[in-house]
Amino acid sequence: MGSELAHTSAGLEAEPTSRNMASSTLAWARDRFGSDLVLAASFQDCVLLDLATTVFPAIEVVFLDTGAHFPETLEYVEMVRRHYDLNLTVLQPFEDASAWPCGSSRCCEFRKVGPLNAHLANRQAWITGLRRVETPQRAHAPVVGLDGSRGLVKVNPLAAWSDQDMASYVADHDLLVHPLTGAGYLSIGCAPTTRPVSEGQDHRAGRWAGSGKTECGLHI
Ligand code: SF4
Repeated sequence: MGSELAHTSAGLEAEPTSRNMASSTLAWARDRFGSDLVLAASFQDCVLLDLATTVFPAIEVVFLDTGAHFPETLEYVEMVRRHYDLNLTVLQPFEDASAWPCGSSRCCEFRKVGPLNAHLANRQAWITGLRRVETPQRAHAPVVGLDGSRGLVKVNPLAAWSDQDMASYVADHDLLVHPLTGAGYLSIGCAPTTRPVSEGQDHRAGRWAGSGKTECGLHI
């Protein structure tokens, strides 16, 4: 499997543009995994959903409803769901999550990582919106690779996309925009642990600001 993925990744990286790469990656994943494929969406924008539903309209999309999202995010989820007629599954926190309040050390584990892992347990592959420019830890993310901790293939169609690529795609396709984006929320997670960022600041600087935490555990 590892050599097949490396070969596939190299071929996809050779696509002439980042948009071509994303569309070809999604088409490959659809053909390779079919209904064993799940797209995990954060719903901070809908670029990946727009691309994915174009090549695979019935793809299962999952949203992790942590119980701590901004009301604007929940409204946006519903707007996007209706617009694309998404095959959407909303995952809820584990029952004992209340023992770990928002922002505490195991909060993400009980509200995000655990529910997603349980849902992916019988699948072959998952798609994420991860991009290399987001954090130093993501700088070498492959477009297609093995997710060793889950025993799955992880597909990152937007791995090579810049912030400008994202903005251009949104404008060119007149996509629905999250209501908080214009208020400086450039990376949007749960309300208790997300702040707006100033002009020129890193997009993810407002996530878990001041805590030293940079990832919720979904991507490591
Ligand atoms: S992102 Fe913050 S509030 Fe959301 S599950 Fe993780 S720690 Fe809790």
